[in-house]
Amino acid sequence: MKIGAPRETFEGESRVAMTPDSALQLQKLGHTCFIEAGAGDAAGFSDEAYRKAGVTVIPTVAELFAEVDFIVKVRPLVTDEEHGWLRKGQTVISFFYPGQHPDRLELAKETGANFIAMDMVPRISRAQKMDALSSMANIAGYRAVMEAANNFGRFFTGQVTAAGKVPPAKVLIVGAGVAGLAAIGTTTALGAITYAFDVRPEVAEQIESMGAEFVYLDFEEKTQDGAAAGGYAAPSSPEFREAQLKKFRELAPDMDIVITTALIPGRDAPKLWLADMVAAMKRGSVVVDLAAERGGNCDLTVPGEKIVSENGVTIIGYNDFPSRMATQASQLYATNIRHMITDLTPGKDGVIVHNMEDDVIRGATVAFEGAVTFPPPPPKIK
Ligand code: NAD
Repeated sequence: MKIGAPRETFEGESRVAMTPDSALQLQKLGHTCFIEAGAGDAAGFSDEAYRKAGVTVIPTVAELFAEVDFIVKVRPLVTDEEHGWLRKGQTVISFFYPGQHPDRLELAKETGANFIAMDMVPRISRAQKMDALSSMANIAGYRAVMEAANNFGRFFTGQVTAAGKVPPAKVLIVGAGVAGLAAIGTTTALGAITYAFDVRPEVAEQIESMGAEFVYLDFEEKTQDGAAAGGYAAPSSPEFREAQLKKFRELAPDMDIVITTALIPGRDAPKLWLADMVAAMKRGSVVVDLAAERGGNCDLTVPGEKIVSENGVTIIGYNDFPSRMATQASQLYATNIRHMITDLTPGKDGVIVHNMEDDVIRGATVAFEGAVTFPPPPPKIK
């Protein structure tokens, strides 16, 4: 099959869905690879590097869509023009977010093309190599710490120097999913004293094994469990939320850096770091809100922006953390996509078999041969 990656046009998006390395692997599966000219520039991959990897560089996006059978992308197709380039039998692989964007499903269906959503890959062991949500969340967690460090006027680690004794920074991570754990690993490696909280008590052990301290609430143990199906969080009860906010109010004056990552599937981000907590923080402290795209965990977050509060706390609400590390993010994302295509090419002979009996392929396919196939049935295998 012919597989091609267009240049991403979403503002501020620097990632690319095919790298020279992933193209080499795709060719080993019997496919031929194409890229729109300049598509890898922002991620550090030149047209020349693609050519050296055996990829054909195509001057325009319309020509690319006309040439290939398979389109690999980061951001979903959004415009009528983009959908107009598609034909029946083609397949598009990208992030899609079908639950939040039913309009996209309608557009997809009308094209007669097949759409695979990387955000719908079931989170089962066999599919971990295709789990782009996790690979991007891992980068976001790391990058959140880098952004915090860049806006914080002190060391993370404590030091005793001839010029004076420096205390270590104190960091609170709220939400210990993939991004939160990556942030914990990074702050502890930098020597900060790290505290972390999650509504799912089962993560306490993971937090502690990474050298951070789990923040316990004064709450009846039985009702402390905020876990729901599939390892995700459920909305907290009002009493639990009050206990959580009380604890955060106690911690706020002492924290130099707060990184919030708390999300509940299908809902707006819960507000957890409230205006009075920001007001209680020291001048020069930093809040990084990784939930900004879903409304933010911090009251003061402005999605997409960095602001400074009246009392001198920097609040970072960027929503492009993985794109800020475009080379790394593209390498991992292109690898996730390559693994998906490997499963779609069982004979390693360049022939795509879109097997709708396969849990992972079925789970991720949101439109197939002119029909909407979202939501999928629950996976059979854990
Ligand atoms: P996520 O991005 O949905 O949420 C981030 C974290 O916020 C979660 O840990 C959640 O518990 C927490 N949270 C929600 N409300 C909160 C609140 N009020 N206060 C504090 N924290 C709050 O999470 P994720 O990174 O997608 O991970 C979700 C689950 O999926 C985890 O159990 C994770 O281990 C699991 N997972 C499994 C696989 C796999 O099996 N392949 C891959 C990735 C993640």
